[in-house]
Amino acid sequence: MSTIHIGHYINGAPVTGQGQRTQSVTNPATGKVTGKVALADKEDVNTAVAAAQAAFPAWADAPPLRRARVMFKFLELLHQHKDALAHAITAEHGKVFTDAQGEVARGIDIVEFATGIPQLLKGDYTEQVASGIDNWTMRQPLGVVAGITPFNFPVMVPMWMFPVAIAAGNTFILKPSPTDPTPSLMMADLLKQAGLPDGVFNVVQGDKEAVDALLEHPDVKAVSFVGSTPIANYIYETGAHHGKRVQALGGAKNHMVVMPDADLEQSLDALIGAAYGSAGERCMAISVAVLVGDVADKIMPLLLERTKALKVLNGENLAAEMGPIVTQQAHERISGYIALGVEEGAKLLVDGRGFQGAQAGAGCDNGFWMGGSLFDHVTTNMRIYKEEIFGPVLACVRVPDFATAVQIINDHEFGNGVSCFTRDGNVAREFSRRIQVGMVGINVPIPVPMAWHGFGGWKRSLFGDMHAYGEEGVRFYTKQKSIMQRWPESTPKGAEFVMPTSK
Ligand code: NAD
Repeated sequence: MSTIHIGHYINGAPVTGQGQRTQSVTNPATGKVTGKVALADKEDVNTAVAAAQAAFPAWADAPPLRRARVMFKFLELLHQHKDALAHAITAEHGKVFTDAQGEVARGIDIVEFATGIPQLLKGDYTEQVASGIDNWTMRQPLGVVAGITPFNFPVMVPMWMFPVAIAAGNTFILKPSPTDPTPSLMMADLLKQAGLPDGVFNVVQGDKEAVDALLEHPDVKAVSFVGSTPIANYIYETGAHHGKRVQALGGAKNHMVVMPDADLEQSLDALIGAAYGSAGERCMAISVAVLVGDVADKIMPLLLERTKALKVLNGENLAAEMGPIVTQQAHERISGYIALGVEEGAKLLVDGRGFQGAQAGAGCDNGFWMGGSLFDHVTTNMRIYKEEIFGPVLACVRVPDFATAVQIINDHEFGNGVSCFTRDGNVAREFSRRIQVGMVGINVPIPVPMAWHGFGGWKRSLFGDMHAYGEEGVRFYTKQKSIMQRWPESTPKGAEFVMPTSK
């Protein structure tokens, strides 16, 4: 099979980026290189920013209802092309097709939210703050804004950002992960078909060079980032240094507490799905099971059985529960962590490293395959507990009581998502109140908030003040202006030298 060239999308048209540095794009199921993606240099970024800057005044000036109508048309096109997008995700990321469909559906939710932008941009108003004077606030777009996104949700995570940013009147530059770049161009094409004016949405493919050019560009007013914590930290500091508004969502180590009174079957299903779904390559994946009291003795044998029985298959196979690991490099990192866990003294009950590609289907021999791995007796001083592995590895920690469960979670450096399985309403309530984590599930293993609630972790899982999408997203992509107004007809007062009060 010949490889395809994957370029940029600037000012309403594809730009090949021929002759530039490139990076291979691989199908993780087969290990075959399917494409070469161009890596933008500073000049490409400058061209994209100039196009976005030129498109900004007219787009910002368009009535919100008109912008919403473009979003409605985009929504219709997304529904028509959702399976094509899901297939593109599976081909470059590897996640199973049905999960990729779920990813597209959760992205569509945000577009639906963004169609409500006229309501979301309504300001507030106070009549007669002083005699003859009214005061109101309104929110205006920032200008050119950028989104830098990770490999693990090539459709959904960009859609956490650009529908809200664009609907609010900004123009946007997306810098997707070079690991799975194709869906970004499909989305650009659908936006163009939806009637979005040229230059309002642009894609620059690339790596650190493109990111740094965006961070340093004076016309980029805000940056949204999702990815690993060290890069999130760097983006936050560098963006702030260059005077930009930044929200940078980072890595995670999500715990699921199973209380002794929890429904065991429900907890088991939740752990298996949340730990191994998408091969554990989700920022909201459960990577630590916190087993309270005697739960471990009851659940471990069942977990072991279910981990071994996982259907690890080519993602295009509709029976697949788990697909391959995204890259060979990620495969090596995860395998390294499994070896480290054994060295650190955790008990490896299921070792996914023995899984052979041929077991996943025809043509999969050279793909990046592994099965699920399960550790028992993990302790909080181990690196496999402290660090993000980002693979299909579940670490089980045994704790004596609820208070210890809460304590270890609160002591962890990450605070993205967390879950507690219990039948006790008071335990659930106390857990939700005391836990130092941004997104909490009670008997829900992956509590990704819906489009109108906003997504974000605490501690080193998010740098910045505002969560992604929802009303937080609208606030992030707009700035507030306060207007105080008096008309000449109102009673003249003469010059005033003291602080005005509401007399
Ligand atoms: P990553 O940090 O390697 O890359 C993210 C983005 O940053 C990509 O666009 C990449 O090209 C760019 N980048 C990489 N290195 C860079 C550098 N040195 N300088 C500037 N830019 C750089 O992350 P990834 O491997 O693509 O994604 C997985 C990570 O993302 C995991 O840590 C996961 O937890 C995290 N994630 C977090 C969330 C969340 O909401 N908190 C959601 C999804 C993924």
